[in-house]
Amino acid sequence: MKISKAMQFKSIALHSLIMLFVLISISTESVEVSAVYICDSKSSKAYHKDKNCFALKNCTHEIKTVSLYDAQNTYGRTLCGHED
Ligand SMILES: [Zn+2]
Repeated sequence: MKISKAMQFKSIALHSLIMLFVLISISTESVEVSAVYICDSKSSKAYHKDKNCFALKNCTHEIKTVSLYDAQNTYGRTLCGHED
């Protein structure tokens, strides 16, 4: 059975698509790593890497998921004293 040019092209296109998905999932993962949690309270000065941190559990305000960059620069937070 001869594979037509169209079939070959489809196969290449599929491969590119799979590669693209792999790249997207890798880049999404690195974004997740740098995501941190902050308690949206005026008295809160820390950001948390651990979503289950007990200090975060005490938060009575909204818990926001932000990038590490935003936590440090936009919100002026420092890493929670219970985490390293
Ligand atoms: Zn914490």
